[in-house]
Amino acid sequence: MSKRSVLVLGGGIGGIVVSSLLKGKLKGGVDVRLVERKKTFDFPPSYPWLMLGLRRPDQVQKRLDLLRKKKKVDVLNDEVVSIDPEGKSVRVKQAGKLPFDYLVISLGAEYSPSTIPGFPEYAHHVYDLESAIKFRDAVEKFPGGTISIGVSRLPFKCPAAPYEVALLLDDYYKKRGIRGKVKFEFFTPEGIPVPAVGPDIGNRVLELLGSRGISYHPKLKLKEVKSNEVSFETGETMPYDLLFCVPPHVAPKPVTEAGLTDETGWVPVDSRTLETKHKGIFAVGDVASVKTPNGYTPYLSKAGVFAHGQAEVVANNLASEISGKGRSKEWDGDGACFLEAGRGQSAYVKGSFLAEPKPEIKFHIPSRFWHAQKVAFEKYWMHHWF
Ligand SMILES: Cc1cc2nc3c(=O)[nH]c(=O)nc-3n(C[C@H](O)[C@H](O)[C@H](O)COP(=O)(O)OP(=O)(O)OC[C@H]3O[C@@H](n4cnc5c(N)ncnc54)[C@H](O)[C@@H]3O)c2cc1C
Repeated sequence: MSKRSVLVLGGGIGGIVVSSLLKGKLKGGVDVRLVERKKTFDFPPSYPWLMLGLRRPDQVQKRLDLLRKKKKVDVLNDEVVSIDPEGKSVRVKQAGKLPFDYLVISLGAEYSPSTIPGFPEYAHHVYDLESAIKFRDAVEKFPGGTISIGVSRLPFKCPAAPYEVALLLDDYYKKRGIRGKVKFEFFTPEGIPVPAVGPDIGNRVLELLGSRGISYHPKLKLKEVKSNEVSFETGETMPYDLLFCVPPHVAPKPVTEAGLTDETGWVPVDSRTLETKHKGIFAVGDVASVKTPNGYTPYLSKAGVFAHGQAEVVANNLASEISGKGRSKEWDGDGACFLEAGRGQSAYVKGSFLAEPKPEIKFHIPSRFWHAQKVAFEKYWMHHWF
């Protein structure tokens, strides 16, 4: 029998983990090819630090071709154009048609800022490296006034990130001695912060915002952005001098065009195996929609820690199927996340999101210990995989 081929689409967190682990387990016994359009891997959890000038861009990036050397993964720098699930092939811009025996889709989420009038012109964010750099420059120059921080649409990745941005900016302007000149407003379509972790933890985050003088405006869906004002579908408006807003997220085009998405707009998968409706085709990370039947929200949040855990399970199960050795595993839905709170502190949330009868989630109040753990998490990502 010819050697089995596994094609992994997307060289972000999920793609790196699945391709590296699989190659590590089966070595020469499998062909693993990773397709990524960028030449670098960028580490988004560090963007809020970059926004404050605490990291340079080169400190949160790694050359993706290092994976070839260190993990023996065949990295193809190309753009996925289309996916043919029935014909078991993918078309990429330069190399053409790539057949596969197994496919792992880890293409993440794209942004569609232009679906909200005025968003591309006036709103800042830190959802990609280039935008984070632009926002860093605006933050540095800001002389004082109203900063509006918001969420445009649900779902969005890393549900803690905009709250983290608000708390970090509060601390930043305090250290600069102009906090008294800065007013913070936070708007979101959510009813409470980070709804996926339940109302008790949401209320802890609310208290944290309140204690820093950040006003919270829930259940507001952004309609339009003007040069100094945002408006909502309720008809309400909010003036601003500097605007940060999480852009709308959508599944990448090749995934939607292949008919892999459902009414959620994302790729439905088996919550335990991450297999799509097509046998041998898996989706992990932000691109997937994972049902949480007992959860506080019907679907799992989008976060790197979930992409990572799911990728480990898919790598294990593919290795076991291809080699005929070892046992298959089910994903447990476990994950944890930091919420940087400024003042050298971070909160920490850890949970089992697929637990029965309900998710088991614990909140650790902001401390220097958890901040140090977040720094260690960054170091792990920048050095372990590359
Ligand atoms: C500001 C911020 C802070 C965050 N903080 C945390 C945190 O503290 N903890 C946490 O767990 N998560 C955090 N996240 C979320 C985390 O980064 C994502 O959930 C995670 O990266 C998802 O992994 P993924 O593999 O699904 O997608 P990604 O890591 O986004 O990777 C997808 C890859 O696919 C590539 N791609 C897309 N389309 C194509 C195409 N057509 N052809 C070729 N390549 C393509 C992209 O270039 C990208 O490299 C944060 C995110 C942001 C923005």
